[in-house]
Amino acid sequence: MKFSFSSSQIQTYNQCPWKYYLTYKARIAWPKPVSQLFREFEAETTLGEEFHRAVHRILQGITIPVINDDENPQLIQWLDNFRALDPASGAKQVFSEYELSAVVDGSLWSGKFDCIALYEHAIVIFDWKTSSRPLQRKRLLQAAQTRLYPFLMAENLDRFAGQDQFEVSAIKMVYWNPNFPESKVSLSYDTAQYQADRIFLNLFAEKLMQQSEHAFLKTDDLKICQYCKFQTRCLRGMLDEAYDASEIDWENLPEMGEDTLTVEDAEFFSK
Ligand code: SF4
Repeated sequence: MKFSFSSSQIQTYNQCPWKYYLTYKARIAWPKPVSQLFREFEAETTLGEEFHRAVHRILQGITIPVINDDENPQLIQWLDNFRALDPASGAKQVFSEYELSAVVDGSLWSGKFDCIALYEHAIVIFDWKTSSRPLQRKRLLQAAQTRLYPFLMAENLDRFAGQDQFEVSAIKMVYWNPNFPESKVSLSYDTAQYQADRIFLNLFAEKLMQQSEHAFLKTDDLKICQYCKFQTRCLRGMLDEAYDASEIDWENLPEMGEDTLTVEDAEFFSK
């Protein structure tokens, strides 16, 4: 196997190729900036991770510990909204936090799915987002997960074949945010998109495999630097400690994922 890639790597490269280089190729360990923005970001990320863990347990039929009302009212509300949604309703089978991978032209692509639900005539990939902004269909159509996850599912359809063999057109991807329980975004998939995604991933792998560090340019968008732990290395995007929170582009906060800045691991920044 030449290389191993994930949607987080696509996302990081799309944010800033230089950030991708520092994170995944040079593997630079760099401390996160000490600022109110990063503290708030950590809190948001931690809450999102707790939600994902709790939903995983619910989908597995495992009782979750009682959450103190005073301690975490937002998480309680999110879980109430999730239970009311009941995404597994009517599904024949549900898989939670499930990993799939596929080899594309010698490179391994992989992803961990929040939830896969098998229905009579559909196989639905659910992805939970916990941003404080509503989901935007246009942005999600461009998201790295939207390119990779249905493709991985299409490559692994045999694993989910029971009495019925699913077609590629049976795959759907559904994004849902517990802050806005009534407004999910549902995306369909088909053979033409499947082939387009194979080409896209091949071309993207070539970008990610470039050897020269000079091929990885710094982003022109300084807003991205505001959320990047390398800002004190690049000397870009540093906010004054007395920043105005209303100016923060929360919508562009990196997704949860393997390179997301977390309390436990402030190593990365970018599901
Ligand atoms: S600070 Fe900006 S230029 Fe530097 S790695 Fe981060 S996003 Fe890229």
